[in-house]
Amino acid sequence: MPELPEVETVRRGLLPALEGQTFERVEQRRLDLRFALPERFDARLQGRRVMQLSRRAKYLLAHLDDDMVLLMHLGMSGSFRIEDRFVGEFHHPRSNAPNHDHIVFHMVGGKTITYNDPRRFGFMDLVGSRDLASHKFMAQIGLEPLSGALDGARLLSLFAARKAPLKAALLDQRLIAGLGNIYVCEALHRARLSPLRAAGSLKKGEADRLASRIVEVLGEAIEVGGSTLRDHRQTDGALGYFQHSFRVYDKEGSACPTPGCAGVIQRIVQSGRSTFYCATCQG
Ligand code: ZN
Repeated sequence: MPELPEVETVRRGLLPALEGQTFERVEQRRLDLRFALPERFDARLQGRRVMQLSRRAKYLLAHLDDDMVLLMHLGMSGSFRIEDRFVGEFHHPRSNAPNHDHIVFHMVGGKTITYNDPRRFGFMDLVGSRDLASHKFMAQIGLEPLSGALDGARLLSLFAARKAPLKAALLDQRLIAGLGNIYVCEALHRARLSPLRAAGSLKKGEADRLASRIVEVLGEAIEVGGSTLRDHRQTDGALGYFQHSFRVYDKEGSACPTPGCAGVIQRIVQSGRSTFYCATCQG
């Protein structure tokens, strides 16, 4: 499942093909993805220009020139592919699963942007820009971790008096948006904080450390995504997934990478999801 850095990477990859560009024609091959697509979805996009492509949590938001916003979510397996359209020919030379190509944006100027989603947990919607903040998917979303607003003081106030473990509090999308299982494990390890600790028990110095490690771990992943993006452009134009090297995630039984720590990464289950951590240095 794409986490926030992957979605941000997809946004950056889509920027040149989408922002400032106009939909010449939209090929809608299904009436639904995870949910029903809006009525006349293809017709309502045709001729519209994308003024800005932004991101909120794991949602991509294409702000259109008619005050509507095209909201897109990649779900579990969604990806976009950008291709040049050759005159008189629509081709997908390297597509290995064309039957999962559900929506194709044909842009003025010749690029095609294809949305592929084998599991179809992704979705798209058209929302009036004034209604965006109160949209059912947007209204409950917490602090954007890369907005510059996430710091120790903010974490302390978000977590004040919370008895839930740190792991659960960090995954709570109503508090902080877009943090998934992987980056929560990585950030807690770097901050040397136990995932089991009550969120409300953080001290100021610990909260400072955790906030900066969250920003750091997401920023590094976006950088990796950026370099993968450059490679991908040269190969098949697919956007959305890239290889990371994680320090603790999925590393059960490995030596703890913290310098000087003799611990071993272990896996426990919290709220039905795997947590990877080192009980020695994450005290
Ligand atoms: Zn350790």
